[in-house]
Parts: sequence; structure tokens; C-alpha cells
Amino acid sequence: MSTAKLTINLDALVTNWQNLNAMTNCETAAVVKANGYGLDAARVAKALATGGARNFFVAAAEEGVALRRALGPGPGISVFSGHMEGDTRLLKEFQLAPMLNSLDQMLRHFETLPGHTFGVQLDSGMNRLGMEPAEWAAVRDIALGQKPVLLMSHLACSDEPSHPMNAQQLQVFREMTDGLEVPRSLAATGGILLGRDYHFDLCRPGVGLYGGAPYGDALPVVQLDLPVIQTRDVEPGESVGYGNTWVAQAPSRIATVAAGYADGLHRTMMNHGIDLFAGKTRCPVVGRISMDLITVDITALSEVPASLTLLNEVQTVDHLATAAGTIGYEILTSMGHRYARTYQG
Ligand SMILES: *Cc1c(COP(=O)(O)O)cnc(C)c1O
Repeated sequence: MSTAKLTINLDALVTNWQNLNAMTNCETAAVVKANGYGLDAARVAKALATGGARNFFVAAAEEGVALRRALGPGPGISVFSGHMEGDTRLLKEFQLAPMLNSLDQMLRHFETLPGHTFGVQLDSGMNRLGMEPAEWAAVRDIALGQKPVLLMSHLACSDEPSHPMNAQQLQVFREMTDGLEVPRSLAATGGILLGRDYHFDLCRPGVGLYGGAPYGDALPVVQLDLPVIQTRDVEPGESVGYGNTWVAQAPSRIATVAAGYADGLHRTMMNHGIDLFAGKTRCPVVGRISMDLITVDITALSEVPASLTLLNEVQTVDHLATAAGTIGYEILTSMGHRYARTYQG
């Protein structure tokens, strides 16, 4: 088989959730938007529900529908994009709680689904989603009269603990919500790590569950093994791959493995210290990453392995991200659709 194998360790995922939960005195939900950060929202959420999670967040109502089908009735499912035109039937039928983020959405929600569970998203300074302080002051009493289940906001710089924006947003969020006696949520993964002041009543980690920064103590959740399709020996002076960018300096054995930039393995990642692993032995990527193939120097190996490992406990999504000039979130969510996915635990 020439498809790469992505192994997802659900036990590690659940342990990450439990460890983050243990850092707080409040409820810990789980963010499973973008199909569970690319790892399959249904499987991820089922594992987390078994491990103790009672509330889940997605970006769009359609994602909530798929999640409700997987989880059945019971767990809370909230939608960050709120109540958009066309969402009404889905929100109702699949018991999804929109996190309303504008006056327009509020009016739509109270008119079409009176009495239906909702939360309110407040903008404490990120200028992305949610009501700003003046807008909130104007509509607050109307909103509170309809009994929101959550008041939430999102931090722009929580992956940088010393950034002054964190304290500033905390203060704005407090000013907008103190004394209202509605459960509150401010922290995603980064916010949990900022400490108790940021936790309020509910935390909403995403990336940390999947093993990514800024949760440095996360257990790795994914392993990626790329099958070796062919090997060849090259002489000094022979080149490998598009553009002849790599030229052998010594007699070398080259393995061609199946996966490439069409699988989310950014072409820009080459020459930035990304290796493939045969057990503990590092084998450097040589030449350009192409659409479906990567070439690897396996001269150091005494035998040709059936596959080489790109993601393991030593080389994580964050290492790949750094090499590609991006963040672990993007590596996870671009993980190839043609990988054969296997779930452990
Ligand atoms: C994506 C997202 C989260 C989860 O963030 P992580 O950094 O992945 O933990 C939480 N809240 C909101 C509003 C989000 O958009």
C-alpha cells in the first residue's frame, strides 16, 4: 500500500484533556472545530466524552450537526459563529447553542428560537468576533433577560504569557461581565496556562488536546509513517529531485517515500532540519518535497525499512510547523485526506 499511515492516539488525547482539566478549578470543555483539528471530530469527541468532557465547541452549525449525530443527545455543543441566516433549523433540530456575536444575531435568535439555549460572545480587544463594550452595554439587559448560558471572549496573545494584551483583555472582560451572574469563559489552551485569573467557569482548550504548543507538556497524539516505495544508490555528483537542488557528496542510498505537499507537508519545510526516522535513527530529507513524494537519505541504515516516520514523540507537529514557517494548528488541520487513519485507545 502506498498510502501513508496516520496513527491517532486517543488515550494521549484524553490524558491531555484530563491534565489540562486538572490545572483548573472549573469545567473544561473541548474545541473540536475543523473536524477535530483534522483528526476526526466524531472520534475525538467520543473519546473525550468517555474521558469526562461534557461540552464541545465547533465553528459552524454544520460541524455541530455532524458532532450531534456522533455524540447523541446529552453533551453540550456550542457554535462559535453564532446564529447565521439559514442556521435556525439546524440549531433547533440538533440542539446546538449559538454563541451570539452581534445585535443582528441576537434579534434573529430571539425572534426565530425564543427560549433556545444560547451564549454571548464578547470582544475584549481582539477585534474578530463578538460584541464590543459599547454595543454590549446597549443590549446587555435584553440579552440577560433571555437567560444566556455563557458569556465568552477570546484572547489574542495567550501563547505569549508576558504579553500585556492578556491582562488588558482580562480587565475588559471583567468590566463587561462582573456581577452579571452568568457563567463565563475566556481561556483556550494558552489561557489555561496563564493561571487561575483567566479560568472563570469554563475553559475551552483546542490545540493542547491534540498535542500542540503552547501546551509544552502535551503528550504527542499523532504519529505519521510514510511507506518506502523505492530505493536507489547514487554516486557523488548525482542529483535528486526537482531542480537538482541536492547533489550527493558521497555514495548515498536514497529512499523515496509516499507523501508530499498535497498531504499538507509544506514544500518550504525542506532544508530546515526535518528528518524522517527509522526507529531512533534520523534520516535527512534531501531534494525538494514534491506533490506525492519525499526523498530521504537512508545511507546510515543497514536495512531498508518498510516505512519511515515523520511525526513521532521526538519530531512533533510543532517542529514541522517551525520548519514550514507556520504553527502546529495549521500542520494538524492540513493533514492529508488520503492518509490511512488508525485510532488507538
Ligand atoms: C479555536 C478556538 C479555541 C481553542 O483554541 P486553542 O488555542 O486551540 O486552544 C477557543 N476559543 C475560540 C473562540 C476559538 O476560536
